[in-house]
Amino acid sequence: MKSFNFKSATNIKEATKMASRRATFLAGGMTLLPAIKLRLAAYSDLINIKKIKGLSGIKVSSKSLRIGATTTHAEVAASKEVGKSIPSLAVLAEGIGDPQVRNRGTIGGSIANNDPAADYPSACLALNATIHTSKRKIPANKFFKGMFETDLKKGELIEAIEFEVPEKSSYAKFPNPASRYAIVGVYVAKLKKEIRVAVTGVESHVFRCKKLEDALSSNFAPSAIDNVNISSKGFNADIHASADYRAHIIKVMAKQAVSSC
Ligand SMILES: Cc1cc2nc3c(=O)[nH]c(=O)nc-3n(C[C@H](O)[C@H](O)[C@H](O)COP(=O)(O)OP(=O)(O)OC[C@H]3O[C@@H](n4cnc5c(N)ncnc54)[C@H](O)[C@@H]3O)c2cc1C
Repeated sequence: MKSFNFKSATNIKEATKMASRRATFLAGGMTLLPAIKLRLAAYSDLINIKKIKGLSGIKVSSKSLRIGATTTHAEVAASKEVGKSIPSLAVLAEGIGDPQVRNRGTIGGSIANNDPAADYPSACLALNATIHTSKRKIPANKFFKGMFETDLKKGELIEAIEFEVPEKSSYAKFPNPASRYAIVGVYVAKLKKEIRVAVTGVESHVFRCKKLEDALSSNFAPSAIDNVNISSKGFNADIHASADYRAHIIKVMAKQAVSSC
């Protein structure tokens, strides 16, 4: 039976207190509800976190951009602050799913879910993000652990994601034409101290591509990517793309991203 108790939390303390072994947080419901409907997941309690004040919203400073966990993709896409400080992030948000998904789905839900083809995890890795939770601050490179797996512990709530404001950045996605999930997505960021390239859609979870980072650190130009050899070993292969095709598309997307930086 698909039955559960629906609870609404009004603050973070209340939400984390409600979270027991068989309870889970409900944000936009864009992944959680289909998973329950398809009987891929079952919970005793769903804790609605959308009514918690202060969990959504966007704050910008000269060095960082902080986005509250329940901020929707549509809000990120339309935000003047995001458009000014990290325009590539607004482009990424605008390219997620369809208007319904963008108006319900949240940034916190997206990274907590850590779908292998989700867009935001690549932004988190490339933009050296810090994940602020109800318990601690987690650097993005320690957050994404495996397929649909993160470093979050039971009952730990994401409060906000803080991105480093880069000198330049761009996200290029080769989308699945039906869902818009990334068959391959490449986020390139020129940060103050380093160049980061994060790839999504290709392995069990998002990863940084050191070969591309090294090539772009010597010469930040699309031509620097030409001689990089990307091995397809361990890459996803499915009805949408073979592993070799994904390896090829990584370079195409990386060049596109660098060209539009
Ligand atoms: C048709 C369709 C197309 C899509 N296309 C894309 C796409 O192109 N690109 C893309 O990246 N994504 C895509 N998505 C996913 C979508 O972007 C949602 O962001 C994502 O499904 C989860 O966000 P949500 O707010 O709906 O989370 P929910 O479904 O409510 O929750 C997902 C999981 O995260 C947990 N969670 C939620 N919020 C928190 C929090 N603050 N702290 C801790 N845990 C939390 C929940 O307990 C649950 O386990 C698509 C989804 C659909 C249905």
